[in-house]
Amino acid sequence: MNLRYRKTIIAGNWKMNLNEEEARQFIRQLKPLAAEARWCDVVLCVPFLQIPAAVKAARGTKIAIGAQNCHYEPKGAYTGEISCGMLAEAGVKYVIIGHSERRRDSNESDALVNKKVLAALQFGLRPIICVGETLEMRDNDVTLDVVRMQVKTALRGVMLEQLRRVTIAYEPIWAIGTGYTATAQQANEVNSVIRQVLRDLYGARAARAVSILYGGSMNVSNARELLAQPDVDGGLIGGASLKTESFAKIIEAANQQ
Ligand code: PEP
Repeated sequence: MNLRYRKTIIAGNWKMNLNEEEARQFIRQLKPLAAEARWCDVVLCVPFLQIPAAVKAARGTKIAIGAQNCHYEPKGAYTGEISCGMLAEAGVKYVIIGHSERRRDSNESDALVNKKVLAALQFGLRPIICVGETLEMRDNDVTLDVVRMQVKTALRGVMLEQLRRVTIAYEPIWAIGTGYTATAQQANEVNSVIRQVLRDLYGARAARAVSILYGGSMNVSNARELLAQPDVDGGLIGGASLKTESFAKIIEAANQQ
């Protein structure tokens, strides 16, 4: 973390979990704890259907509501899809783009991720762009090349003045939902390479202002060490974001750095 130049973000990704009442209750419990998080932004990326209730419950608090996906077109014949304009209208501030589960299950390519990033920015949303390697890629020593390419492609056409609304999450696929976590050194190594890509594309000043998160089995026991790394500016958290107690403890760890 480097609070001098960029904000810390602790973002929960609920995936396809928690019903409307559970979402309300979660936010009710988190409110007083999030209020103490002076040094970090708290985001909850909830299922589409829970967005209205979550936005209402989070009104007037430090908690921002995010979505987990979006479509790149503003409207049209795209059955089952939700546009960025619709999300913005519903009060959504952040949107996860290119999560590895969507890349895997819905064949999302880097080019599609790029279209979604541009659409999100156009509608005033803050994209959280997910990148990361498979175990096979890591074993073959191509992690850094793969991540560099994912970041470059995702940001194609993003203007310098839009970059401050972009967040990147490094999520090694082998660490998502598996209980295996990247070591703090592995996370920081990849995050600093991502920052180098940003530096090459946008210059040092813009690059140092971008929050780069780590995601992949971050939990109460490993959060402090991961967040202490200079290029780890927060977490994208799946499993440990489903219980208020564990999520609040990670926020606390970020706040105490
Ligand atoms: C995620 O879904 O982005 C994630 C990091 O999940 P988990 O924390 O459960 O590994």
